[in-house]
Amino acid sequence: MKSKTLSAGDAIEAPCTRCRVITNHIIVAMVGERPARVECNTCGGVHNFREQKPARPAAAKAPERKAPARRSRKDPAAAEREEWVAISPTMNREKAIPYEMNRSYNVKDLLDHHVFGLGIVQQVTGPKKIEVLFEDGKKLLRCG
Ligand SMILES: [Zn+2]
Repeated sequence: MKSKTLSAGDAIEAPCTRCRVITNHIIVAMVGERPARVECNTCGGVHNFREQKPARPAAAKAPERKAPARRSRKDPAAAEREEWVAISPTMNREKAIPYEMNRSYNVKDLLDHHVFGLGIVQQVTGPKKIEVLFEDGKKLLRCG
């Protein structure tokens, strides 16, 4: 805002009700220190002065009712990781079966893999395949 005091006859930019854009206007009447009525230089229409609204991006118009960010969709790796964290305190390394490709395993067997560490057999997915949950996530392993 300019500090200059406005008075009738001054030019002022304002949104024109008829042009629907911001145009130059001449102040026709003042109320106190504020313009009350203005005349549009473009269309000649006289209307009540309206304050220029600061330009806002269209998106800001929609009321923002953002729900607190919730992770409704976890990525599978994070879910597996959480699952492992939940199970891991029950794992007893001394009871773990060292992983060997030729051995057979059952669901819920605890095994000790030389690379992945401790894991729980979660599924027997095929005649020679088991799905094991490790700290790194689920792995498919061969078994006997
Ligand atoms: Zn106008």
